[in-house]
Order: sequence, then structure tokens, then C-alpha cells
Amino acid sequence: MAPRKNGHAICSGCQQPAPGYDRLAERRFEFVPLWGIRVFLLYKMRRVECKTCGVKVEQVPWAEGKKEHILDRFHIVAMLNKAIDEVRATEHKQLQADGYEPVLKKTRWCRLKRKENLTEKEEIKLNTVLQYNLKSVRAYLLREEFQVFWDYISPHWAGKYLDRWCTRVMRSKIEPMKTVAKSVRRHKPLILNWFKAKKAYSSGIVEGLNTRIKLTTRKSYGFRTYRCAEIALYHTLGKLPEPEMTHRFY
Ligand SMILES: [Zn+2]
Repeated sequence: MAPRKNGHAICSGCQQPAPGYDRLAERRFEFVPLWGIRVFLLYKMRRVECKTCGVKVEQVPWAEGKKEHILDRFHIVAMLNKAIDEVRATEHKQLQADGYEPVLKKTRWCRLKRKENLTEKEEIKLNTVLQYNLKSVRAYLLREEFQVFWDYISPHWAGKYLDRWCTRVMRSKIEPMKTVAKSVRRHKPLILNWFKAKKAYSSGIVEGLNTRIKLTTRKSYGFRTYRCAEIALYHTLGKLPEPEMTHRFY
């Protein structure tokens, strides 16, 4: 991989563009696997001479430090899952304490019974159960809503969405989820940085690869065997030299 021409290197100290200084030896970076195959990117990191930080290595999205990684997509989802489990466990305990056991069976029985046929006591119990369930379900829905965040293209609107999501969670009265929202709010700039970097680099690299795969696949309808198509794919993706004659097939 080579940096874009005229692309400014970003100082890893202050995240500002800075003039180049020199380049380090080539390094291997593990990337998202493609077709289940481990992918490595080879890149010579640039160093910048930053006005504020001095000579620093550039910031690259695929080789972020541990600190930046704490709140990437994977970790946020893990945090949300943990919160949902907590909500569910608490509800489960409460339901058992209130004499609902086994929980699901009883709940289903209550729901199946028509509301007008419920005794007053049963109705109170049903309402309680629905309230409990609502928390688990709501926590689950809030997690689903959070996924939308990653579909945003503009970091500005992604940020707005993040704010709205946090507000909703803070109003939900679901304590474990509120803890996550507080953490998300506190680390908003970090998450948005990650969002920007990840978008730029995944759309650049992955979409580039995907476009080439599609093009080659389209071309390869003319190939007689799968093997030929596969070879063509490797040639296109790996930028291997192609023999002159192959062009006749296209
Ligand atoms: Zn700097």
C-alpha cells in the first residue's frame, strides 16, 4: 500500500495534518479477512514533523493504539450485550422472587388467557411481567438502534444520532444501559474519530476490492471453468502481471 498522492500525513500526537519527515521500514498489518483468508497490508509508516509534537509517527486507521481500540464497534457491542444480560438476569431474579417459575411458561400462560378472563390478581401479575419483559426487550431494541450509527456516512449526522440515542437510553430508566450511554457520551470524540477513520479506510480498501471482484466476476462469465475465473480474480486483486493474450477474452 502507498499513501494517496498529495495526501497529508496525520500526526498521531494531535491528529492534525503535518509535513512529512521520513518513512520507516515496511511493516505488516493484519486486516479484515477476505473469503476467510487472513489478509495483511504492507505499509511503510511515514513520520511527520509536527509543529506542536515534534517528530511523530503518522496516524493510520488500521494500526491504532490500544487506547483508541477500546471503543471500537466490537467493544461497544460487547458492552451493550453485557448490559442486556444484566437486565435480563435482574428481571429473571425478580420474576422468580415474585413467584413466577418457570418464568416463560407462566408468562405465556398469562398472555394466552384472554384479558377479561383473568382474575384481578392475575391481571396485576401479568402487568408486572409485561413491565419486566419490557425492560429486557427495550434494552435489546436500544442495542439494535445503536447499530444504525455505523450506517451513517457523514460523521456529523452520526454524531447527532449518537446524541439522540444516548438521550433515549438515559430516559429508559434501565440502569445497565444508562452506564453504557454515559460511557459512549464521555468518549464521543473518540468514537467519532474511530468512525471517520474506519469509514475512510474500509470504504477505500474494501469497496475497492469489492468493485474489482464484481468487475472480474462479470468478466468471468466468459470463462469456461471456475478455476479460470478464480485465477483471473487473483490476478486482478493482486495486481499480478497479466499475459497479453488474456485481454482477448475480455
Ligand atoms: Zn502533533
